[in-house]
Amino acid sequence: MTSRLPQERRIVTEIPGPRSRELQERRVAAVPPGVGSVLPVYVTDADGGVVADADGNSLIDFGSGIAVTNVGNANPRVVERVKAQVERFTHTCFMVAPYESYVAVCEQLNRLAPGGHEKRTFLVNSGAEAVENAVKIARYATGRQAVVAFDHGYHGRTLLTMTLTAKNMPYKHGFGPFAPEVHRMPLAYPYRWPTGPENCGPEAAAQAVDQITKRLGPANVAAVVVEPIQGEGGFIEPAPGFLPAIAAFCRDNGILFIADEVQTGFARTGDMFACEHEGIVPDILTTAKGIAGGLPLAAVTGRAEIMDTVHGGGLGGTYGGNPLACEAALAVIEEIERHELTERARRIGETMLPRLRALAERYPEIGDVRGRGAMIAIELVVPDGSKAPDPVRTAEIARRCHARGLLVLTAGTYGNVLRFLPPLVIPDALLDEGLDVLEEAFAG
Ligand SMILES: *Cc1c(COP(=O)(O)O)cnc(C)c1O
Repeated sequence: MTSRLPQERRIVTEIPGPRSRELQERRVAAVPPGVGSVLPVYVTDADGGVVADADGNSLIDFGSGIAVTNVGNANPRVVERVKAQVERFTHTCFMVAPYESYVAVCEQLNRLAPGGHEKRTFLVNSGAEAVENAVKIARYATGRQAVVAFDHGYHGRTLLTMTLTAKNMPYKHGFGPFAPEVHRMPLAYPYRWPTGPENCGPEAAAQAVDQITKRLGPANVAAVVVEPIQGEGGFIEPAPGFLPAIAAFCRDNGILFIADEVQTGFARTGDMFACEHEGIVPDILTTAKGIAGGLPLAAVTGRAEIMDTVHGGGLGGTYGGNPLACEAALAVIEEIERHELTERARRIGETMLPRLRALAERYPEIGDVRGRGAMIAIELVVPDGSKAPDPVRTAEIARRCHARGLLVLTAGTYGNVLRFLPPLVIPDALLDEGLDVLEEAFAG
């Protein structure tokens, strides 16, 4: 792919620089502190694998705005389609007077979502709204109320989705009371499974099945909601066999399997959707983040016989499937297929994993290296064999990366995971240089 901005790391001021610090002062006076920012450099441009700031710095992007700009920031095809649309009409509300691009996005998602069955899709604005709607539909279609979520899960910040989310701080603390009928089960976390990673998948699945059976009764459960690789929870890849076992249990008991692929979707993990890795066919799939190259869009895709149950007018929203966002999504799907970005994501993983494993040999505080495709993480622990999480060292490494011009994110229930989500179009040289910077950050 050709780039508009030079694909280089260039640091000309301290990070953040004077102009960013000025803007930060204005922000503090205008925006509540509850809205955080990982790195308060104020962005003026972004393209390929770089983000440019108000002080003339160019940072290597290992975040993609949290797995959103998979096809690159301001991807030319996205820009072209959105520009053409913005000059025609910007909104009619699909519930008032519809337009073709909305239908086309739904057709594409029905084609791309796992499984050869007949599907339906409808569009909303955010990942949380997609998950919220998936649960509404599951309850409607099954006539059941209970919903199962997992340890370390993240599903959003609305009342229902924050309830589905596992972690108290910062997502839930002080925001209760929470939504009823949400039940949390153990997740197959290989690195921290007491009897070891080999036993993790089957044992965790057996525990979850046992608890659902004993505590809830499968006949009361509408849906299980799970991220095929956990995002905010720390890129935890459930041990092999866990997801298929849960999916089989759901199938046998009339429970709907909702795959929350808001973070893992759109080629990120080396497949279009992470479910494909173990051949999982979800009943309902939620997508957002990577779907529209940065324009706000999300989707709920599901089996036609489930999606078609809800009465007319029961689903929707003023902005859901905005025409600009739909054009962007159609461009994103074209770009993923045209440039074979699933393959590209795999190659990014094949570059990153060996280098990170080599780094872990040298730095015993790297307890685990994991992930698939361009969704890769390292988990930092106290290097004394205890696996005690080390969020302080994690924050220190992140700060050192930022100071050197590498934008990285942290994650994890214990805040001790560094996660890497480069745009899938990042040039190889910049990917290598980003890993060099990370190595330097460990060295001091
Ligand atoms: C980000 C995320 C959400 C919430 O999406 P928003 O667009 O921020 O509402 C839900 N589920 C997962 C897995 C996510 O990563």
